[in-house]
Amino acid sequence: MDKFKINFDKAACINCSACISVCDNWVMDDNKAKPKKTTLSEKEFKSNKEAEDICPVNAIKIEG
Ligand code: SF4
Repeated sequence: MDKFKINFDKAACINCSACISVCDNWVMDDNKAKPKKTTLSEKEFKSNKEAEDICPVNAIKIEG
């Protein structure tokens, strides 16, 4: 069961691709990043947490 939820501020994204380089849940969509899935299992949390940490504008927040 998914325990974590991604809260993504798409408007804040500056299209730097950093999240995509560290986590395969993140893709580019129309010049903005986009998470393939927004709820995460414990296993998926780690790389998404890296995406959260690397985002220069704090657009990615993981709750849970
Ligand atoms: S790291 Fe942040 S600013 Fe860069 S593409 Fe990902 S969400 Fe956008």
